[in-house]
Amino acid sequence: MFNKILIANRGEIALRVIRTCKEMGIKTVAVYSQADANAMHVRMADESVCIGPAESSNSYLSIPSIISACEISGSRAVHPGYGFLSENSKFSEILRDHNIKFIGPSPEHIRIMGDKINAKKKMEEFGVPCVPGSNGKLKGTKEARDLARKIGYPILLKAAAGGGGIGMKIVENEAYLENLFQQAKSEAIKSFNDDTIYLEKYLKKPRHIEVQIFGDGKGNAVHLGERDCSLQRRHQKVLEETPSPIISSKERKAIGEKCASAMKMMKYEGAGTVEFLYENGEFFFIEMNTRLQVEHPVTEAVFGIDLVREQIMVAAGLPMSFKQENLNLNGHAIECRINAEKLPQFTPSPGTIVQFHSPGGLGIRMDSAIYNGYRIPPYYDSLIGKLIVFANTRELAVKRLKRALDELIIDGIETTSDLFKSILKHEEFLNGDYNIHWLENWLNQEKK
Ligand code: ADP
Repeated sequence: MFNKILIANRGEIALRVIRTCKEMGIKTVAVYSQADANAMHVRMADESVCIGPAESSNSYLSIPSIISACEISGSRAVHPGYGFLSENSKFSEILRDHNIKFIGPSPEHIRIMGDKINAKKKMEEFGVPCVPGSNGKLKGTKEARDLARKIGYPILLKAAAGGGGIGMKIVENEAYLENLFQQAKSEAIKSFNDDTIYLEKYLKKPRHIEVQIFGDGKGNAVHLGERDCSLQRRHQKVLEETPSPIISSKERKAIGEKCASAMKMMKYEGAGTVEFLYENGEFFFIEMNTRLQVEHPVTEAVFGIDLVREQIMVAAGLPMSFKQENLNLNGHAIECRINAEKLPQFTPSPGTIVQFHSPGGLGIRMDSAIYNGYRIPPYYDSLIGKLIVFANTRELAVKRLKRALDELIIDGIETTSDLFKSILKHEEFLNGDYNIHWLENWLNQEKK
């Protein structure tokens, strides 16, 4: 086992990893930018190393600075958290060259899944259902036109290197195709320096359902149910729950087994998420994330496991602590992402927290790195906390979440916590009757 782990991240996820390391008796090293000298992850770690100025390109994203921090602190393993360098195959490769263990999958697996066309091809090979579309890169508008006629409009143009919805264009009918194809290409080249575009059938009212998988890198892999992340704003997840209110245990088992079997064939190592759109009883693969997700705590709650601990175990060459047959889903969990944003426009709201009171009691988990007097720097993601509730049933989880949101106090800045209070009052949410457009449609109605 490692005696020390460096955490190449900040905020709540850095704290999350430190907590598990402490429980495992592993020393921790925090890295921080000059803007984060007073951050909680720095206070909680055994050691810390400043890795550069506030801008993440010169600190949390700087591979040389992080390698130096490993050398200075004598760390032989790195946990990347999520975001930043967590899905950077070059980073994991360079660490490997330096004989430092990247806690996560191999650079090859990160690379394959990082290119959405390759990822789809790979998944199709493994028998995982994908959204109907082009067999890879579109050569030009003629190919796009012929294919779109076959599949039927509306279709979606997507950038192979895409992320955050950039380079994505919905095409309602043929008259718009040529223009939107050129627009998608130019957006993609600007943002990703790669204008590879592919085409998919546009699903009108899908849900976003993702399957948590876990592998030991030696050909053993399991699935840990699904998370329903359909409540989104601008393709960003806002609230996640497990189990999904609309997935039956038979469906869960069938799609979970397909994903686990793909991971066994790949000899995938560590935590990963296979993302699907789900419509009319069918699953369609869209992408795979080769890392721990923001919303992993809901899965931990219903399976009673610590995913970070398992990540560290398999990275150290030890077996996972469970087999598929020992994994039992119990109860219901919901996560709310609390952002430092002002409603209704969701504009960033950095500043100083003058008062913070975390909700508590049975079935509550608050993952956050904020504290009284903490000044939220304006340079990073606006996520400042995740409120996770767990109860025996969905109905009880919703009641518990309402109670927890009432207890939560964050004064001094604006947060999105009131949004959840409103969502929890909505009949359609209470009935589990929502899709990926539901939240935006509802927010637009509220504005009127
Ligand atoms: P990104 O990596 O840019 O986030 P994804 O492929 O994960 O792109 O898609 C992001 C979101 O876009 C999905 O969660 C879904 O809301 C929507 N989306 C993606 N593909 C389709 C599709 N074929 N039909 C309808 N909506 C889609």
